[in-house]
Amino acid sequence: TPILELMDVGKSYGNVHAVRGVNITVRQGEVTCVLGDNGAGKSTLIKVIAGLHDYTDGEMRVNGEIRHFPSPRVALSSGIATVYQDLALAPLMSVWRNFFLGNEMHKGILGTLDTKSMKRICGTELSKMGIVIPDLDRPVARLSGGQRQCLAIARAIYFGAKVIILDEPTAALGVKQSGVVLKYIVKARDAGLGVIFITHNPHHAYLVGSHFIILKLGRVVLDEHRDRLTLEQ
Ligand code: ADP
Ligand code: ADP
Repeated sequence: TPILELMDVGKSYGNVHAVRGVNITVRQGEVTCVLGDNGAGKSTLIKVIAGLHDYTDGEMRVNGEIRHFPSPRVALSSGIATVYQDLALAPLMSVWRNFFLGNEMHKGILGTLDTKSMKRICGTELSKMGIVIPDLDRPVARLSGGQRQCLAIARAIYFGAKVIILDEPTAALGVKQSGVVLKYIVKARDAGLGVIFITHNPHHAYLVGSHFIILKLGRVVLDEHRDRLTLEQ
């Protein structure tokens, strides 16, 4: 079973149909890219999947079961985590503190693990994914944009995410930092996560995508698997 399925999903704000008739299947070990211009419905779609808005039509299934997410917390406890572009990191706090911050469900950890263990876990999780941050006591503000994205993704994975939604993770980054994040997306994919990669950048999508969806005025106008997009026909 795919981990997440949207079946004919629609979301209206009053009589504005922000998205309608959307079918998307997210599988573990795949990167599903969602592309589309401003107003195409990308944010609305993320909000539905992340539990910020309920859908008004169709069905959303998680592991085959119909689900509605009344809040982001419920989405998170079903393994669906969103990593926003502006990041939920506290810039003045250290890297390792940030790694454990904001995980309401796992608050117990802060009381039960000592500083040394938390630093060790943080360092191990980052290095597993190929990110080396030599000084974990350094404030997050001193990291590069790419490192901050990777930290936020690593944290979501460590705290049990099965699907991560990345909202324009490379939009504010240059070539080199984008490369860091794209590599990280591939690592997350290869670790068995389902990745939903929202981007304006078709080149970035093509570099890491397994599956490509283009939204236009709230509808899916292209839905192709990577192996159907070969250059020689
Ligand atoms: P994107 O993220 O691709 O730019 P959005 O999901 O933000 O697209 O918007 C899709 C459509 O829904 C747009 O026409 C937008 O004006 C409308 N829309 C988005 N949010 C709201 C809202 N809260 N109330 C009314 N209309 C909205
Ligand atoms: P919430 O209930 O989560 O506050 P809203 O529907 O009020 O959600 O708005 C969600 C987001 O969409 C907000 O950031 C808001 O500024 C934006 N928004 C609201 N109306 C529109 C619209 N007509 N077009 C595009 N975006 C909108």
